Amino acid sequence: MSKIRVMNENMANMIAAGEVIEKCASIVKELVENAIDAKATNIKVSLVNGGIAEIKVVDNGQGMDKEDAVLAFARHATSKIYKADDLFFIETLGFRGEALASIASVAEVILETSEGEVGTRVHIKGGEILEVTASEARKGTSFTVTNLFFNTPARLKYLKSEVTECNNSLQFLERLALSRPEIALSLTNNDKVLLKTSGSGNLLKTIHEIYGLNVSANMLPIKAFDDDFEINGFIAKPSILKKNRNHMHTIVNGRIVRNNDINRAINDAYNTYKHEGFYPVVVININVDPTLVDVNIHPTKQDIKMSKIDSLTNLLYRTIKDTLYDNLLIPNALYEEEKNEIKNDFEIYQSECIKKDEDEKANTQNEQMVLDLDRIPVQLSESKNEENVKNEEFKHLKLNPIGQVHRTYIIAEDAGNMYILDQHAAHERVNYEMIKQKFHDAEVKVTNMLVPFPIEMNAADYLTFMERKSTLEELGFGIEEFGINTIVVKSHPTWLKEGYEEESIRSIVDLVISKEQKFDKDKFLDSMAKMVSCKMSVKANEDLSQTEMEKLLDDLMKCDNPYNCCHGRPSIMKYSTYELEKMFRRVM
Ligand code: ZN
Ligand code: ZN
Repeated sequence: MSKIRVMNENMANMIAAGEVIEKCASIVKELVENAIDAKATNIKVSLVNGGIAEIKVVDNGQGMDKEDAVLAFARHATSKIYKADDLFFIETLGFRGEALASIASVAEVILETSEGEVGTRVHIKGGEILEVTASEARKGTSFTVTNLFFNTPARLKYLKSEVTECNNSLQFLERLALSRPEIALSLTNNDKVLLKTSGSGNLLKTIHEIYGLNVSANMLPIKAFDDDFEINGFIAKPSILKKNRNHMHTIVNGRIVRNNDINRAINDAYNTYKHEGFYPVVVININVDPTLVDVNIHPTKQDIKMSKIDSLTNLLYRTIKDTLYDNLLIPNALYEEEKNEIKNDFEIYQSECIKKDEDEKANTQNEQMVLDLDRIPVQLSESKNEENVKNEEFKHLKLNPIGQVHRTYIIAEDAGNMYILDQHAAHERVNYEMIKQKFHDAEVKVTNMLVPFPIEMNAADYLTFMERKSTLEELGFGIEEFGINTIVVKSHPTWLKEGYEEESIRSIVDLVISKEQKFDKDKFLDSMAKMVSCKMSVKANEDLSQTEMEKLLDDLMKCDNPYNCCHGRPSIMKYSTYELEKMFRRVM
């Protein structure tokens, strides 16, 4: 029976637009997705020189009979889509009626395939079938692509370096592995193993296989749903940060997608838990009724549009924020540094190469690792409860200040631990949460300025300010017009620190004007709280009395997130008694 049907012309044209083979990874993508369509559970990709010399994809899928094997290279042949309406509803990832034909037209391809009884080998070059013969009857399919762009040398020069080409395929396969943990995927380049997942179906194990223990041991599980969406997956503790967004993986109905609203919600949930410009590692599955997903977005692209996106981003935001809140503890001073290793993709690629090399040499050790791995999810769920308890206990901890170091850090203790705090970061956190709380207070308390002062602006800034000033008035700022392009502030909310009123108000006015075209009130209030709390907090190189330190520690312990200043810098570190004893060799 023929699994491949010939697609209608209109459909082919719709697809053709997106079908451009520009890098080796595009070929890898097409062949691997084909394998998934063929229900493969094990897919091996091997490259020579990053794929420039050879790309080979071997799967254990259902294979093809002779008729389909030949027809697979015909233009507009597809086994997946029959009419345009099916576009988004297709269960399979397939969308590549033209892909095999396109690949075969610019390269030399050997296809070997079998449904288990007889095997077929098709040899095709530049779109021309050279030979169809019998081959081994191993169930599954293998494609070998060589001589890429042999007949279009101009396009050869668009290929990047071996490392870049290889890295593109690696990134694609890593994302795919995270969206399909039940498929065993491997990638080698010049026989070096770059990626190997076991197909265990366990997402955390797959995260481990891709990112290593350092990341997988610091992932927190999330799970939530509302009327329209169901989300589950893992988010990293803020100690695992990356310099780019590439490690925020969102998977909608089994497909890796990229959506700015979703990414923003994830980032916002980490607000004040991390530095700006750093991004967490997350892998989140989103399940949604397919009718809520926009069908007009080209399915080969990663972008996606969704109705009810606000309800989804709210759900994500709340779930991630709550999970962080429930699970974070004071970072351990001795181990935090190595955890904070931040690498870009290229460095990851390089170190993976080295690491995998070493792994091969130490195969026995490797098996040990795999064994340990099976225990990870258990440990995680067990320790989660334990951590929750600790977190709650921690809120009632009484830290005893011992003294100040360099007039910048506070040393403190309790029965089990020694702590070091950054006095500015700690105080800033206290003030930040205090100010955010005031924003929600029903009753606004106001103080009049003893000496009201005018602020002069240029005409454009003045117009912008007048348009947005109601946000400040709601908070208790008394603002009046005062001649041309000038305002005067006569009163302000009581939480502005005495002696810093004028400085703070000037900065707040600057902030109101500097916000982009679209004025987002919540974002503005958050930036304002950060700015004002920084200004009003004790600085480094300032003396603190014993009473001041006691009050600061008590206040910090009452915070929702006592671990970071509002910009994501750490505020408190701990040394356990055990670690101190180890350092001084009291215990071994
Ligand atoms: Zn600050
Ligand atoms: Zn700060």
